[in-house]
Parts: sequence; C-alpha cells; structure tokens
Amino acid sequence: MPSPPQRPLPDQVHLPSGTVVRLSDAAARAEAEAIFGAPGGGGERSSVGRCARDVQVLAGPSVLTDARGAPLDPLGLPLADAHVLRALLASAGVVPEEPGAYTCENCGAPFEVAPSRLLEIGPFTDGELDDPELDRPFDFGALHPIPALRVGRAVCRGVRFAERTVEEAMPLLRLPGEGALRITPSLVVAMGIAALGRERRAKGIADALAGAPDEAWAAIVDLYHEARYPARLVAVHRCQGCGARNDLDVPLERELARAPLRAPEAGADDPEEPGAPAERAGAFPDLDAFEARVRAAAERIYAARGVRNIDLFIDAGVPACDDGGEPLLGCYTPGTPADELGIARPPEIRIFYRTFRSEARADPGFDVDAEIAETIDHEVIHHLHHLAGSDPLDDEEHAQIEREELRRIGHAEAARRARRGALSDLAGFARATWPAWVIAAVGTALAWCEGGR
Ligand SMILES: [Zn+2]
Ligand SMILES: [Zn+2]
Repeated sequence: MPSPPQRPLPDQVHLPSGTVVRLSDAAARAEAEAIFGAPGGGGERSSVGRCARDVQVLAGPSVLTDARGAPLDPLGLPLADAHVLRALLASAGVVPEEPGAYTCENCGAPFEVAPSRLLEIGPFTDGELDDPELDRPFDFGALHPIPALRVGRAVCRGVRFAERTVEEAMPLLRLPGEGALRITPSLVVAMGIAALGRERRAKGIADALAGAPDEAWAAIVDLYHEARYPARLVAVHRCQGCGARNDLDVPLERELARAPLRAPEAGADDPEEPGAPAERAGAFPDLDAFEARVRAAAERIYAARGVRNIDLFIDAGVPACDDGGEPLLGCYTPGTPADELGIARPPEIRIFYRTFRSEARADPGFDVDAEIAETIDHEVIHHLHHLAGSDPLDDEEHAQIEREELRRIGHAEAARRARRGALSDLAGFARATWPAWVIAAVGTALAWCEGGR
C-alpha cells in the first residue's frame, strides 16, 4: 500500500485550555514505531485501547514539552487538550489511521477516507482558537437535556459532565475498541458523568445507564464527544458524486463509539419506517402533499411580489448543494434567451423535497410551511435582483461561505496559502515563458559586455 505524503508534526501547538506545548516529530515517530510497529506494517490488535496507546506516544522521551522545553506529562492534561494532540499525531501520520467507511449525508453514496489527514491544523499552530462556535468551551456547569431515562424510581432528562484529565479518564481510554461496553461505577467516573438528573452517585448512574434506552445513550455519547473533543476536530470531505460537505470526526478512533445512526436515505422513501412512530402528529408530508403546499405558497408569494412566469419545479432527487457543500432548500436559475433553434428557457425556482425532509427530521421545531414560504420568497428576490442587473444577495451568500471557510482554515494559514498560490502562479508563468527570459538575460549580458569594452 503506498503511504500518503506525510506532513511533519508542528513544532508548537496551542491547546484548547490555552496551554502552549512543543512537539518533536522525530521523537514521536520513534516512539510510535516502538508502540505500533513500523508504518504500514499493519500493526497487530492490542488489548490496550487506542487512545491510551496514543497517550503512550506522547509520554515518550522528548516527545512533548512545555513552551520552554521542559518535559510535560500528558497524563496531567485536560482530556480535550490530549485529544487535539492525538488528532495531530494521526494527521501527521505519526500514528496509523485506517480509512473509515461512510455514506454521504446528502446522496447516500458510500466513500472511504482516513479523516485526520483532512484536518485543518492552522488554528492550533497559529493560536487562533477564538472562534465563538468552533472553539466554544463546553458548559460543565449545565444540566444538558437528553431523552428521558429512568434513574431508580425517577425519570431524568438531563446530564452534567465534569472536566477530566487524561489520568482520570484512563480506565475509559484503556478499553479496547472491540467488545461490549460494560458500564461500571469506575467507568462512569472516568467518563466524568457528574449527575444524571438528581442522581450523583456513580453506582446509581451506572445502573441507570446500563438500562438506558438507545436514544438516551446516543444523546449522552454525543454530549460526551462535545465535552471532550473541540468542534474544530473535524474533517470536511466533499462528496465526489453530489458535492455535499460531510463533516467527519477527527481522529477517527475515539474512546466511546457514537451510536450507529440510521443511514440518511436508506428506506427513507418507505412510508412506514420500522421503529418510527406511526402517523405522528406533524409527520413530514409525502411528495404530493408537499408539492401542493409549495404551489399554494408560490401563488401567494408571486402575487405579493408582482412576479409571473417563473417555472416552479419540486425536485425529489438528490438536492443540489451550494459552493460550501450545504444541501439547498431551493435555488433560482435565470431564464435564457432563445438559442439558434428558437428555444428560450424561462427562469426557474427549484425546491428540494429531500432537504426539507432531512431538516425536519433533524429539528423537531422545523416549521415546514414557514420554511417553504421563506425559501420561495428568497428565490424570488434572487429573480428580482437578476432582472435589476446585479444580485447583492448572491454576493453576500458567497462571502458568507468564504468567511466560514476562513474560520475553519485559520486566517494566518489562509494568507500563507494565498501567498503560495500567488508564488506557484508566478513559477508557472516563469516556466511557460523561460525561453524569452533567457534571451532577454543573454541580451542584457551582451549589452553589458558591449558597454564594458
Ligand atoms: Zn453525495
Ligand atoms: Zn440564495
């Protein structure tokens, strides 16, 4: 198997807690080889969990030091800091990461990728960890809402987490990836579950979790990931089929597996899905009912905006995506004048049924009719701007996508890439035109020689 190009570990890293540490690429690779075997060697299964082995690499001689170069024990780090360092080890190929198997959230196409290689590390190396969303610290004081579960004789709907160091979490980090998870009081302590509703005793919490319904456990695991892994630890993979953005966990191997989620479109067109409550109030409309509601809304909105003759198409196929890879609720395409065959195309507003359906599934508060009306009105505004000759709304949407990219890549890194892009453009220009440069240089030399006589 050809090994992918390696990037070295960064010398210096800013961690979510604010600590700045230094890493040695050479020392980390030597230690990783001792623990995982030579790169590409397959690496036999270990009875010690993957996270604990990554920590072992960080604990190797000279691998991790503080900003002044003094040795730093990874066991004392807050867990989120350690997970950032684990992500960097995987992203630099210091520790192995097998490709994960995924399905595109928009079109359902399968793909495989090792996500850590796609991590944007600029904000960690440049100390740009101040984004209000991507770097927001987890709220350890709050009771976070979860689906109801029984705790003793009470029903609880909230969980509170405590901060954990690597050492405190070690019973969890050491668990091998395979095998069923046995929830014991010491595991509850390692997970840092401080309260389940009013229950604070580890034993009471462990008993409740052992019998928890799947959706409550899944919500707790999601919150666990939120508490221990900064939102920045994400790989953005763009689907080759439909262009959708799929956000993948980095690193791939984590101490608690997220509950397997239903594949997005598998069986989605069946009216009765197994396990779905039959005919819930407010269940999502089928395609015919949806289309009727879209047409009724369009009639109203076209009249109010004073527009006519915009084709309206309800698309039940794979939704188109914007330039940022987000599946669209709707889109507008201007008309085209008659071509050589005399065929003109009217302007069109297209509404994507499946995006509405997946938004409604993800958010119980999603108001289908309000969103239909807002989407049609939005596309009509694009139409009016187009007729007026310029579309500031479109410009703003593109600027918004670029701002979001920038927040993820980091400002300093984006500037470096822009400079490299400019330089490679210059190099390309020089390569394409070098004979002319040589002739000019020879000419200059000759001219100089002549002048020197
Ligand atoms: Zn796709
Ligand atoms: Zn728009």
